[in-house]
Amino acid sequence: MENETISRNFIEQIIDKDIEEGKCETVCTRFPPEPNGYLHIGHAKSILLNYGLAQEYHGKFNMRFDDTNPTKEKVEFVESIKADIEWLGADWEDRLFFASDYFDQMYEAAVKLIKKGKAFVCDLSAEEIRAYRGTLTEPGKNSPYRDRSVEENLELFENMKNGMYQDGEKVLRAKIDMASPNINMRDPVIYRVAHMTHHRTGDKWCIYPMYDFAHPIEDAIEGVTHSICTLEFEDHRPLYDWVVRELEYPHPPKQIEFAKLYLTNVVTGKRYIKKLVEDGIVDGWDDPRLVSIAALRRRGFTPSSIKKFVELCGISKSNSSVDYAMLEYCIREDLKLKASRAMAVLDPIKLVIDNYPEGQTEELEVDNNMENPELGKRVVPFGREVYIEREDFMEEPPKKYRRLYPGNEVRLMNAYFVTCTGFEKDEDGKVTVVHCTYDPESRGGNSPDGRKVRGTIHWVSAADAVKAQVRLYENIIDEEKGVYNEDGSLNLNPNSLTVLDNCYVEPSLLKAKKYDSFQFVRNGFFCVDAKDSTPEHPVFNRIVSLKSSYKLPTQA
Ligand code: ATP
Ligand code: MG
Repeated sequence: MENETISRNFIEQIIDKDIEEGKCETVCTRFPPEPNGYLHIGHAKSILLNYGLAQEYHGKFNMRFDDTNPTKEKVEFVESIKADIEWLGADWEDRLFFASDYFDQMYEAAVKLIKKGKAFVCDLSAEEIRAYRGTLTEPGKNSPYRDRSVEENLELFENMKNGMYQDGEKVLRAKIDMASPNINMRDPVIYRVAHMTHHRTGDKWCIYPMYDFAHPIEDAIEGVTHSICTLEFEDHRPLYDWVVRELEYPHPPKQIEFAKLYLTNVVTGKRYIKKLVEDGIVDGWDDPRLVSIAALRRRGFTPSSIKKFVELCGISKSNSSVDYAMLEYCIREDLKLKASRAMAVLDPIKLVIDNYPEGQTEELEVDNNMENPELGKRVVPFGREVYIEREDFMEEPPKKYRRLYPGNEVRLMNAYFVTCTGFEKDEDGKVTVVHCTYDPESRGGNSPDGRKVRGTIHWVSAADAVKAQVRLYENIIDEEKGVYNEDGSLNLNPNSLTVLDNCYVEPSLLKAKKYDSFQFVRNGFFCVDAKDSTPEHPVFNRIVSLKSSYKLPTQA
């Protein structure tokens, strides 16, 4: 159907055609992270894209660690990456692979190229290689070692493997074309000497393959049909194709590039996040201000909100940047019906109901979510003294202020109508207590006689309230000024974290578990902090406020 073709993204169209033309029978995709940092929202896009395609075509999805560069890689990152992908819901079943498991095959592949006269050992230094490479406008020059015999190359390469050379002393290069307009094709280095301990293979190897050589081999060994990567690899595709062709794989994988996901004024790159972590500017890789997957999870984002976000972003061939507000829109939509509501007062001031009998308490039954009756009801204690938000009272209100002020009647949400009768102040003129009377006939917050109140405010019973810490977040980057300062440093927002230590929440929240989220009425969606929250000292992260002027971009 024509409509269907139009709505399929360009990658699906390529795969459809490959299947139609019999170029592949099944589809196999992979997600190939380098374990040198935590995954971020951009990786989530790649994971969900690859996993989604495998599902759509009833194919396979491989989880493969691209661990060919031992300098920056760590087991900690392997574990965090697995946890993040599992949490996102991309199931690799038993298809977990490590590129380092193929080091023997990669070595054999290099030997094969040498034997075909397609690779040579080069003694030029890294600097010399760069100088010989030429520029975009000038062709490169052949290395003086380019014409070594196959026998000599085989012997030298074996010596490289056997540890006879220092780092940088010799490299193995593909023999392609120093005059190619594509610099990646100018006899690229494919193996280097590096005396390093690998986190999985230990000291077995002192030579390691370069990415452009290793990656197509990894894909081919695993039977990957469509190797999806980001646009910066477009110029490397001829080399990818050269490698799988020269190594004569019967079913060569196909590389397809798509545009990276960027968020406007948000740092996503592993390098930058790492720097924020190492400089102690944030509380680890999962600091809720970051957009690593671990951070989004800790902040209170759900896998389905991230999926929705990625879907809305779409798959494209040109780089662009998406507003963070779209991510916020997705979590709001997701939690709107799923999250229970709760009352929490972030900046408390005491309200005393003078005509409420001393010593009396009662329990009010309230809906967990008015918009979703399936979430049931809960009981909220009420008493003579409650906390309300400081901003819900004003001594001298401006016009149109509908909350508490002397003489005004408002509704305590789900409880009673109350009328403000007075207030107390300390020596500094700060209001300390507000007084009111209540109308016992208005139980449940319903008008007894049809009279109307214009304001409804939330509250927490002072006798039963649980003290909590609440953390509010803003973008870690000062959005007004953009991501970078002139000297290249990040433009940090000094207000990115606000910690409120004197908050009161309703006692039902004592039962909340790590990662549980709630709508604190009028204040936003909040999530129990998985790292710092304890029953004695509950901590809530604000995921997102309730309202936004954000509008979804109209879809093409
Ligand atoms: P970064 O430097 O942004 O942290 P990376 O590309 O170095 O990321 P890898 O571990 O090499 O991270 O990436 C694993 C996979 O995720 C690759 O296929 C890569 O193309 C993809 N990927 C990385 N960043 C993004 C992004 N912003 N949007 C979509 N895919 C991405
Ligand atoms: Mg990388």
